[in-house]
Amino acid sequence: MGSRTRRDWTWDLFREQLRPTDRGCLEWQRTRNYAGYGRVRDGAKWAMAHRVAFRLSSGPIPKGAIICHHCDNPPCCNPEHLYAGTHQSNARDAQRRERHRKSAWGLRLPDLIDVVSLAPFADHVELARDYRITVGAVRLAAGTLRERLSDPDLLSDD
Ligand SMILES: [Zn+2]
Repeated sequence: MGSRTRRDWTWDLFREQLRPTDRGCLEWQRTRNYAGYGRVRDGAKWAMAHRVAFRLSSGPIPKGAIICHHCDNPPCCNPEHLYAGTHQSNARDAQRRERHRKSAWGLRLPDLIDVVSLAPFADHVELARDYRITVGAVRLAAGTLRERLSDPDLLSDD
């Protein structure tokens, strides 16, 4: 492919994809998911733009940490607006939003594919939050689709 999105990002390259807003946010200008978070190729897989922004600007994300927005603006990748939180600190917020969540099957196909492909290495609670679906839906989508994708009949090219 050789496209810029597949190479290893540096903060300078990443920064070129962001546009400042009046509120001081730096918004991801390319693909976004259902919930408004930026989606970006990070090496071989899809990742959340704000997580990549945090990593590039502030270093590795602590294990189990979720990257939250002070500004509550999902596409924002301004490192000054991002902080590493915990599930505990995010729990009340999550509870409040849980009501509005949907099943994974309500997602657009690209987002569903994201969930399935990210589920093996992403934190399911965070994935659920980022796509506004329930944690159960993440597990269900990941498990069910993986099973289907491992069906040899679906894998044959001819
Ligand atoms: Zn912001």
